[in-house]
Amino acid sequence: MTVTTAKIPMVGYLVLDDEPHLVAQRCVACGALFFDRRNGCARCSATEFESHPVANTGYIRSYTIVHRAAPKVPAPYVSAVVELDGGGVIKANLVDVRPDPDAVNIGGRVRLTTFVAGVDDDGTEAVAFGYIQEQ
Ligand SMILES: [Zn+2]
Repeated sequence: MTVTTAKIPMVGYLVLDDEPHLVAQRCVACGALFFDRRNGCARCSATEFESHPVANTGYIRSYTIVHRAAPKVPAPYVSAVVELDGGGVIKANLVDVRPDPDAVNIGGRVRLTTFVAGVDDDGTEAVAFGYIQEQ
């Protein structure tokens, strides 16, 4: 008998396979990429989408150091807007970075990382994602 730890992604667009990655919804008409579920394209109003895996690498377009957060969420933390290689823009937290402007490089390279955000009573792990700065 083998024991496996069940893992579930915190968000539907995070795919947990050998190499975890994000899958966007791509507007078939205009190519716009979205990570949340949509009924219509925000750019062209078309209603047909297809799954589109995006790159795990990109760069920091902008960021905010968040000092106030929901209860039980450790603050401060760094929330960044990441421009993904090959298209797609996503807001996500930076992982393993000091919440200090001197530690965050706008335009700097980042890559996707995942971490266990919580474990339920059955041992199922909830997996979240963020980005880590490349040196
Ligand atoms: Zn569109």
